[in-house]
Amino acid sequence: MTAKRVFTAGVMDWGAQGVPEMLSALTGAGVTHLWDVRDGTTSGPFMSKWAEKNLSAACATAGVEYVRRRNLGVPKQLREVLRGPGVTGAEQLEAYAAHLGGRGVELPGVLADLLAHPEPALLCACRSGQACHRFLLADLLGVRALNVAPQVEG
Ligand SMILES: [Zn+2]
Repeated sequence: MTAKRVFTAGVMDWGAQGVPEMLSALTGAGVTHLWDVRDGTTSGPFMSKWAEKNLSAACATAGVEYVRRRNLGVPKQLREVLRGPGVTGAEQLEAYAAHLGGRGVELPGVLADLLAHPEPALLCACRSGQACHRFLLADLLGVRALNVAPQVEG
């Protein structure tokens, strides 16, 4: 039986380190599958390292299976709603759930897929502490999110 928890990681947390460093931390935690739940992979010199093509290649090298689940992503418009002033956690959950429903995403199916993997991790772009959908998704699925962020130096 699989434990009801999932690792998570945010690209913005790992920006200063890099893809190999993040993957090494995730595999160190036992992660075998990386679910990329970003809505889009942004362009630009910084983000290109984290684009789908590069990330999936880096995962292959690290022995992690890369799973692209774009349908779980949050478009910019919704991101702004989630991070709006005074928006409560319950409202964030509701807005994200409504968005997923609108895309025809069925959460029980997503949960079954996720937990079918030995040790999955959810990846999105957000920095920890932002109203971030990787945590909202874990909440909606009823699994505990264990965030993997770089160790703070010093
Ligand atoms: Zn997010």
